[in-house]
Amino acid sequence: MLEWHDTDILILGSGGAGLFAALHALQANPALRVTVAVKGLLGKSGCTRMVQGGYNVSLHPGDSVERHFMDTVVGGKWLPDQALAWRLCATAPERVQELENEIGCFFDRNPDGTLHGKAFAGQSFDRTVHKGDLTGIEIINRLMEQVWARPVERLEEHRALALIPASDGASLSGVLLVDMRSGAFRFVRARAVLLATGGGPTMYRYHTPSGDKSMDGLAMALRVGLGLRDMEMVQFHPTGLLAGQETRMTGTVLEEGLRGAGGYLLDGAGRRFMLDYDPRGERATRDIVSRAMYAEMRKGNTTPGGGLYIQMSHLGPDEVRRQFRGMVQRCADCGFDLAGGRVEVVPTAHYLMGGVICDETTATALPGLF
Ligand SMILES: Cc1cc2nc3c(=O)[nH]c(=O)nc-3n(C[C@H](O)[C@H](O)[C@H](O)COP(=O)(O)OP(=O)(O)OC[C@H]3O[C@@H](n4cnc5c(N)ncnc54)[C@H](O)[C@@H]3O)c2cc1C
Repeated sequence: MLEWHDTDILILGSGGAGLFAALHALQANPALRVTVAVKGLLGKSGCTRMVQGGYNVSLHPGDSVERHFMDTVVGGKWLPDQALAWRLCATAPERVQELENEIGCFFDRNPDGTLHGKAFAGQSFDRTVHKGDLTGIEIINRLMEQVWARPVERLEEHRALALIPASDGASLSGVLLVDMRSGAFRFVRARAVLLATGGGPTMYRYHTPSGDKSMDGLAMALRVGLGLRDMEMVQFHPTGLLAGQETRMTGTVLEEGLRGAGGYLLDGAGRRFMLDYDPRGERATRDIVSRAMYAEMRKGNTTPGGGLYIQMSHLGPDEVRRQFRGMVQRCADCGFDLAGGRVEVVPTAHYLMGGVICDETTATALPGLF
């Protein structure tokens, strides 16, 4: 039994990308029929909700879009698509203002009222705008409220299975989905489809993304003949929590700001090793720190659990509790004292840098698919 549904714009995925796109489409033309189809629940699935650290944006005197762009391209070893990297950096100030002034987010501030920028690795300026260390919940909850308040059609617990080209193969006709509650198949015919299903390298033993991220969106694109790029570029986050094999908390991330604020990485014997690998120490980019950690682990310099330690206590336990309430609580839930002790960590698969080849407007080689 195949059920049919017609819409103007079909958005697959309800993370930050999908929900922002739904709002922007209605802003551009309130008469459009916009449908969001998502494997989980709207705004409650995917990785945006899990963001801890914050959002990189150049806002302050002394910083600039050019500087943000150079940090991005140099950190990426000159491999990023520079047109896309520029677009990301150049539109970030507008996006963060939109998040506060139109969507209703409220980020942490400096005493003078300007937005506070956290220190993140690989940055020449402290530009990570945040809400404590649970930024994603603030962003996705406010976006979700805005979408709920508008006439956006929702197909929740619907998994997209296949992109269906038009009969002449020249454009996209729609998407085949399965309603995961009933098992029914549903074909959604759309004038434009946005693939906002994200990446998510969840095939690694230690990984951070949510379980619904299985890269099936990219597989659908590949099956209709679209090119993918940089699929080998998996970013490993250095500090995945190592809490034992029996808990799904193992692999979840302890945020970058811990190293940015001055946290140390120590081997099993308590020796600080990062300065052997990079003069920036723990504030080197994630690829360098993760490789250094892996090298130490291969040398056998490990903790009892087979990883390494992160230590924050030298910064003062009260200060650590104040700055990183969420991280301290997460560790305490697993029986570890992040503020006053040492916590075992391992590099964990975090982010897929690759994806479907597209231009700066996100248009792909298949007309109708973005
Ligand atoms: C633990 C963690 C911490 C992070 N911290 C930061 C940070 O501090 N700063 C930062 O900039 N980035 C951070 N990131 C990365 C950031 O989360 C992502 O880059 C961003 O949220 C991606 O947004 P998105 O909308 O593309 O994808 P997501 O938010 O992951 O949403 C994808 C959506 O697609 C849906 N979906 C997937 N497959 C299908 C399918 N077949 N059919 C239908 N729906 C489907 C999912 O259910 C979900 O709703 C972090 C990531 C993780 C995992």
